[in-house]
Amino acid sequence: MTPIKVFFLVPTDRERRWLRRFSFSDKRPCAKRTYGCDAMFEVGEADILYTKEGYIDAASRDMPPPTDPRWPVVCDACRRPFDEKDERQLFTKQIYIRESDGFRCTLRDAPPGACWDAWWIGDRRKDSATGCGFMVGPDHRSLVVKCPDGHEWMIDGRASNCTMPNDNAHHCWVRHGRPEDGTLHVDKNGNTCAAGAGSIQTPSWHGFLHNGHLTT
Ligand SMILES: [Zn+2]
Ligand SMILES: [Zn+2]
Ligand SMILES: [Zn+2]
Repeated sequence: MTPIKVFFLVPTDRERRWLRRFSFSDKRPCAKRTYGCDAMFEVGEADILYTKEGYIDAASRDMPPPTDPRWPVVCDACRRPFDEKDERQLFTKQIYIRESDGFRCTLRDAPPGACWDAWWIGDRRKDSATGCGFMVGPDHRSLVVKCPDGHEWMIDGRASNCTMPNDNAHHCWVRHGRPEDGTLHVDKNGNTCAAGAGSIQTPSWHGFLHNGHLTT
């Protein structure tokens, strides 16, 4: 595999929006999908609304009326027409930006190599604890990298094969460097357990993050 450069994404104050129709699988299962029926139509971007505490304020968004012609009409998978028993949702994803060239995406469609700080995890910890048991890294951030198969690797989280499951302070994956300057590097050189060799095994990909690149 050609190594994939890891690059850092920072959040913007804008979000992408979709009109979503769907059904809960226990109420109306889809003939083609494991979950319920689902379809989304993208309706563009908007400013994000925030609560006083600085979190995204989902409750204050205005949902277009059911008469809006942009609502999806049929399920993407089974083509069943939606009716008034199905759900409506204004589905949103925050837009992130790569500051070096202005490339923008949501975390949902971020390409392989994208890295971001899941700040809402580290932020919740007022005690400043770090380690895989808290999903917080040595710089008090919670870094995630998008793997070639789309899997989101929580580098600061606990590996599924961690050999010290009762210890929260070690890091199953030890990070060095920074994603901002292309030096992010993950290995077992530090306070760690015996799981693996610092590599990541996703459902369909196995590789390393070495010297700022995803590699096999
Ligand atoms: Zn369906
Ligand atoms: Zn571990
Ligand atoms: Zn190292």
